[in-house]
Amino acid sequence: MLQDRFGRVLTYLRVSLLKGCNLSCKYCMPERIPFRMDEVLSAAELEKLVGRFVERGITKLRLTGGEPTIRPDLVEIVERLARLEGVRDIALSTNAVRLRQLAQPLRAAGVRRINVSLDSLEADAFKQITGSAALHQVLDGIEAAREVGFHPIKLNTVVMRGVNDGEVEALVAFAAVRGLEIRFIEMMPTGATHGLQPRHFVSNQDVFERLGGAARWEAVGHSANAGPARDYRDRARPQAPTIGFINPLSQNFCSDCNRLRLTADGKLRTCLFGQQDLPLRPHLTAPDWQRRLDAAIDRAVGEKQESHQLESGDWGSMISFVQVGG
Ligand code: SAM
Ligand code: SF4
Repeated sequence: MLQDRFGRVLTYLRVSLLKGCNLSCKYCMPERIPFRMDEVLSAAELEKLVGRFVERGITKLRLTGGEPTIRPDLVEIVERLARLEGVRDIALSTNAVRLRQLAQPLRAAGVRRINVSLDSLEADAFKQITGSAALHQVLDGIEAAREVGFHPIKLNTVVMRGVNDGEVEALVAFAAVRGLEIRFIEMMPTGATHGLQPRHFVSNQDVFERLGGAARWEAVGHSANAGPARDYRDRARPQAPTIGFINPLSQNFCSDCNRLRLTADGKLRTCLFGQQDLPLRPHLTAPDWQRRLDAAIDRAVGEKQESHQLESGDWGSMISFVQVGG
């Protein structure tokens, strides 16, 4: 079992498969960054490394990035990870551009839950945010995921003032009629986007009010899969999918954080907003790799900080979410 010094049991590993992306969302990666497959852990390395975490008590995996679906070996990676004894849940975060082709093979390989970034339903705003004309592919990718039976499918939306803030009601309606959950994530300032954030930031309180506020929405209890999201159901349609809000600044969920993160090049990060990445890859080739890996993991877990320091303006060393797997 992996337990930190504050008594938190760590069961959830977010695995970044790639730093690069086929989109360049303004709030994440304003300029496309070239990526090299030789920098990232291979499928075999991932199996070995993640396998050790699973033997140590990790049960839930989320594959993220960057954009994980760009990797040509994604299905093979899922197959390898799904075979690890002790893995109970494999989820994927994606922009859905390639989901039409991949939904079926990913489901067959063992992915059960999918989160899709969707910030706009309008071609112009979508282009403004992502730098791409791929809205149609994204919507079709979401449809493909529904067709092959993924459940739940969650949409993640970052609202930006003057760009997509007029669309929150349309996005909620889009999700509701398709049986999708939608979560609004407040735009966070990162090194890559610092200048943009003050101009475009919209608080989730604002979004909540635009959607009708407490008169329309009722808070639901914190579910096991909700993570840091606060979920609400429509009082008039209690059976409809919930909407959620992720407010990293105003609501701090660190006290029940169960997460670790692995970067695409095999570094361990114990907090999204932490200062340090611990390289694990070099241990994999040592004859006593398990002992060395365990020692490194124990050290990092032992140093996991009690809470992020966002309130005091410390965003850690992350430049962009693509680096560490948002
Ligand atoms: N490419 C995949 C995707 O877009 O879902 C997975 C990786 S992406 C980095 C993961 C999540 O990070 C997305 O939901 C995205 O909206 C979020 N994200 C990235 N930069 C952010 C920022 N500055 N503030 C808030 N959320 C951000
Ligand atoms: Fe790519 Fe996801 Fe970042 Fe958008 S949020 S640039 S889709 S990694």
